[in-house]
Amino acid sequence: MSDRTVLHVKGRVLAGPEDVRDELWAVDGRITYERPPGEALTVSGWALPGLVDAHCHVGLDQHGPVSDEVSEKQALTDRDAGTLLVRDAGSPSDTRWIDAREDLPKIIRAGRHIARTRRYIRNYAHEIDPGDLVAYVAREARRGDGWVKLVGDWIDRDAGDLAACWPRGEVEAAIAEAHRLGARVTAHCFAEDSLRDLVEAGIDCIEHATGLTDDTVPLFAERGVAIVPTLVNIATFPHMADGGEAKFPDWAAHMRRLYERRYDTVRSAYDAGVPVFVGTDAGGSLAHGLVAAEVAELVKAGIPALDALSATAWGARAWLGRPALEEGAPADLVIYDQDPRADVRVLAAPSRIVLNGRIVG
Ligand SMILES: [Zn+2]
Repeated sequence: MSDRTVLHVKGRVLAGPEDVRDELWAVDGRITYERPPGEALTVSGWALPGLVDAHCHVGLDQHGPVSDEVSEKQALTDRDAGTLLVRDAGSPSDTRWIDAREDLPKIIRAGRHIARTRRYIRNYAHEIDPGDLVAYVAREARRGDGWVKLVGDWIDRDAGDLAACWPRGEVEAAIAEAHRLGARVTAHCFAEDSLRDLVEAGIDCIEHATGLTDDTVPLFAERGVAIVPTLVNIATFPHMADGGEAKFPDWAAHMRRLYERRYDTVRSAYDAGVPVFVGTDAGGSLAHGLVAAEVAELVKAGIPALDALSATAWGARAWLGRPALEEGAPADLVIYDQDPRADVRVLAAPSRIVLNGRIVG
């Protein structure tokens, strides 16, 4: 027998968008809807599955890799905000040790970013030429947890604007190789011009996706390619544009245009049926723990509250192949004093965080 206390969660258990139950129990770290014998510690409120941050970087800051102590602080900050499942969208640090820690969020890794030489933030990525793309994608597919992360576009300093990073043929071969190895592929894309090639090459997801247009939205919808808009990060575009204005005025103007239409972009993708998920882009220049702010941004863009919640809860977990509040699932859940369906701002103040059946916050 385990020494764990049996936890009894009472109130409104939001097991699915349309599936509300009165109570659940956590026994030996797992969820059950059948009352176990004996004593239990009861907590009350509205319970959601542990939130998902589908674009987060643990083990990374603005300068590159960080120490394990800093990685631990990042993971704890996410956890205390209710993020109990992270899709790590690229990290140069080895954070495998976190998997053994029952008190830290679960992480689905995409290995290390793969970028073109001198076409990304320093110290982040494998910086390579297109001829090496297939080999590096295979390597990161084996190293990660079912995802590979490409940098699909970045500023081309000679052109003075954002530009696609990879020729169509190489990216097609690389995505096919990832799929052969059982990994999905995602890419950082701010601009318009890389999207069609990546989607037609079979990519599974696009990060940021600020460059979606009326031409490419239907293509994403038809192929079921997800987007993770990271609106809390897009909010920094004007600041970035100011910084680069003197040297790269075309790039700066482009970034401002993408910023100005960001809510319309997300809303038209959602309206067309493109799967949209919550991601904060924590860990580069952004702070950890912003999951509630990103959900609020999706609502501001025009996504209904229940769908914005699903984008960090039930829907995001299904997309990543992880359970929510099913019988037998790990008891990872967040409890609130008010109904987050009525107002997603409730997510900013969790009353209890439960990870593997234990109250950790
Ligand atoms: Zn990122």
